[in-house]
This record gives sequence, structure tokens and C-alpha cells, in this order.
Amino acid sequence: MKRILSLILASLIMASALLTGCSEGSNEYKDPTEGIELAKTDDKYRNYYQIWIGSFCDSNGDETGDIPGIISKLDYLNDGDPTTDTDLGVTGIWLSPMMPSISYHKYDVMDYYDIDEEFGTMADFEKLIAECDKRGIKVIIDLVLNHCSSRHPWFRQACEEVKKSKYDGYAKYFEILTPENPITCANRSDAGTGVAFEGNFSFEMPEWNLSSEATREEFEKIAKFWLEKGVAGFRLDAVKHFTNEHTDGIEFMKWFYDTAKKYNEDVYMVGENWVGPAEIYEMYTSGIDSQFAFKLGTASGDIISAVSSGVLGENYAAQVKKYQENILKRNENAINAVFLTNHDMVRAANALVTENNIKMAAALYLTLPGNTFTYYGEETGTNAPNADNDANYRTAMIWDSDNLPAIFVNGVGDPEDTKFHGVAQQEKDEYSILNFYKRAFKIRNQNPELARGIITKTVKFDDEAVAAYITEYNGTKLLVVHNTSERDAKQLTITDEILKNAKLRGDLTAQRPKQDTEGNDIVEHVMFNNGVLNLPPQSSAIFKAE
Ligand code: CA
Ligand code: CA
Repeated sequence: MKRILSLILASLIMASALLTGCSEGSNEYKDPTEGIELAKTDDKYRNYYQIWIGSFCDSNGDETGDIPGIISKLDYLNDGDPTTDTDLGVTGIWLSPMMPSISYHKYDVMDYYDIDEEFGTMADFEKLIAECDKRGIKVIIDLVLNHCSSRHPWFRQACEEVKKSKYDGYAKYFEILTPENPITCANRSDAGTGVAFEGNFSFEMPEWNLSSEATREEFEKIAKFWLEKGVAGFRLDAVKHFTNEHTDGIEFMKWFYDTAKKYNEDVYMVGENWVGPAEIYEMYTSGIDSQFAFKLGTASGDIISAVSSGVLGENYAAQVKKYQENILKRNENAINAVFLTNHDMVRAANALVTENNIKMAAALYLTLPGNTFTYYGEETGTNAPNADNDANYRTAMIWDSDNLPAIFVNGVGDPEDTKFHGVAQQEKDEYSILNFYKRAFKIRNQNPELARGIITKTVKFDDEAVAAYITEYNGTKLLVVHNTSERDAKQLTITDEILKNAKLRGDLTAQRPKQDTEGNDIVEHVMFNNGVLNLPPQSSAIFKAE
């Protein structure tokens, strides 16, 4: 019944707008994002975009994405002009590994001071940093400090030496079994070298000895090198494995963070640790800014589960509030790192299936406090066939579905299998997933309190499809409200007790307009009149106290 009423209401509004030539009226929809400037900020809070370089954009026709390809697409990510809203609005990039390596994924580094020639040159990288700088985009790079490639010249040298019972040379950089390093780790491997070493990932990825002064001296040089190139920080790979019988991984992270600060006081670091929340909370005691919130992300995490089931209730808001409290307890400067999926898992679109659910999940995580990390292609709903392998997690970015890219990861992963259109097509479709993402980022960029706020209160509406919470930042309060019901609009009274002088600052509606019998769009908007919020099915509202 409520739904029918609101449809009638929406139709009446449209009819009256037509009749009066869009004259003013309290029941008329006015886009709350119009006329609001993007906030000018230059801190660590960013809308990050994760680029798997080999799959993003190929500039030279060799079927592998590369750094010049990324440069050619920067205006898509952020054109640097605050007066346009045609770009996506990302303000940070996380680059997947790009240092020389023989593997396609490049998590086994052979040289920490160069760019793999498959992806370009150091000059290309420097140009990327300069071009990002012009657009206000910060770049962080994937840094693999747990292990390197078994082809790293120092590891090869170490093996040669250990075979000759020389233990005080290059062996001290690695977790190699020697009389001086009597490791008993369970993951000893042998790469045909006759030498035993720790290799949690594979025998091709021997691990660095992170307690060794020699290793730390080298790591300081690596940090200095890239920070002086202009990167804003690092995504630290596999931080869980920093810890072994003689290394405290948290102490190591603290050391690395403090060391990097010598070269950039504002360095930003986010750790990757695919474990439960208790272990992640503990990692925050290292002092590094962020750890990815795997509890909220992944196909089975809080956000995608909530959207797929349509059930939020107070539980979702309570969960995100509790999560933030826990990380702030360990580090008062903690910045949550929220995401849906990354390169190691089933794509969000595979898990969410429908366009509406894909948009709703975006609405949930792109309104949370912290830094958001959007995996390339997520904003167009890129999905993958038979999802369960690396190649499918890393399929090519689809710029134009009428002209599919030839780039594949590892020779597999056919972008033709995606069910949604490419960027070029979605840009022209007002209600596309891409335009939904652009709007979500715009709202995030217009309201800096969204990313920076602390959730101080959850708000109950006694409806399992509704979640709401208050965030506060520098004395400003925001109210975020979501309706995940696929079928029902919700009418919610926003009292002064919830938020005094509430003003609508942003609205997101996932579902496309219905059509009347003549094929005209019936747009059902988020409306706020006389203290009553009308939330159409699968929509969100962001209020600010004025
Ligand atoms: Ca290329
Ligand atoms: Ca390790």
C-alpha cells in the first residue's frame, strides 16, 4: 500500500512539474547534490581505486595493460577539475605490483628498484605520478616485504654461499636454515638449491628475515627510493606472515612505518591480512594507518551478505560502529579500509548478481567512515565466468563492450562473459552502475565528514531492511540511512532527537525507474518533507545537521 501511494505521489509530482514548468514546491524533487562544492582536503582520507595493471588498459597492443595505459585513463578516474562531475571522483590509486618479476602477478619481486618492462619504464612511472599529482590523486604501491622471488640475485647468492657453509654473507637477509638461524618453521622449501628456507607461499617465494639489521637497512632504502619518487605510501602484502618464531610482525610494521615517516611524514600504509577481525584489530597496534576490513568485504562479508539477504536491521549499523570502535581503541588515528572485493576473490558482481544489488552494496560501503578501495571494473559490474580462479578475479577492464579489449590475464578470463556493458555504454545510461558509483563518490567528496567521521550512535527504525547511524566529525553530525528492501519504500520520521535541523545532502537510488503504460519513466526519488523521509526500495539518504 505504501508503495502504491508513493508511486502515486511521484506521478503527481511529475505531473505538477510538467504543468507548472518545474516551479517551486515543497513536494518537488530537488537534487541535494546540486550546487555543493567538492570539499578541499589534502589528508590521508581517499577514495582509492585498485588497479591490476596488466588488466586495466593496454597502450601498445601487446595484450598486457601498462602504465602508459593507466595515464591515458586518468581523466576517467579524476579529471582534476572540481567543477565537472563526469569523472569517477577517485582520489587515490593502489597499484598492484609493478616491479620486475617473471610471474604475471609480480608478487615475487626480482628487483625492488625498477619497473617491469611489461608495464613500462621508470620514466612512465614518474609521468604517472606527475599526472596523478595534477589531478589530486595519490598513488600507493603494492610492496611485498614478506618474500621475494627465488630469482632475486641476493637469494641466489645466499644459496650459493650456504651450500659452501658460508653463513655470514647474503644468508642473513633471508629465513634460510643455517647454524646461525636455526629456524624450525613448518614451511621449509627447497627450490632445487639444496637449501632449506621459509616459503609460506611457494618455493619460488623465499622469505626475508625481517629481524635482520641488514634486511631492515635495505628496506629503508626501498622505502626512501619510492617515497622520493612521489608515492604516497604502500599497501603491505601478506602482513600476517611477517610474524615467525623470531620476528614479531607488529614490531616490524611499527619499525617500517616509523622509518618511512623519515622520508614522508604523511606516509600512508594499509596492511593486507585476510583473517578474522580480532587478529586485524591487533594489527592496528603497529601504528600503521589501515588494515583491510575483510569482515565487511568479501563475498561472504557483512556488506554483500546484507545486500543479498536484504536484511540490515540495527545489526549492520551496530557492526560497523563496533568495528570502528575496536580499531580506534588500538590506534586513535586508525583509518578503516573498506572494500567489497579485491584481486584475490570472486568479483563483487558475481556475488551480488543483479544490478540493483551491485548498486546497493556500493551505497553501503561508499558511505562508511574510512578509506574506500574500489577494485577496477567493480564500478561497471564486471563479473567473471566460473569465478573461482585468479584469472577470473582479474579479467580485463571493459572500456567499450562493442570493442572488447584483447587483454587477458594469464591468457584466460574472457571479458565477453560479462553481463553488463562497458564504460562507454554505461556513461550514456543515466541509471547505469557506473553513474551510480559516480554519484556515490560525488556525495563522498562533497561531504568530507562521511570518510572522516566517527560513528557515535546507531538509530533504530524497527525495520530489518533499514539501517541508520550518526557520524560526527569536527562538531558536524551526519545521519546515514539505508533501505535494502527490494520491494518496499519506507517512510521514516527523522525527529530532532535523531538529528536536529536535518538537511538532505545526498541520495542514492539503486533501482531504475518503473515505466507507465506509455513507456514514460516514473522516477521514485528519495524525498524529505516535513520531517518525513521517503526511501524508495534499495535507496540511501545522507543528512547533515545544519
Ligand atoms: Ca601493453
Ligand atoms: Ca614471513
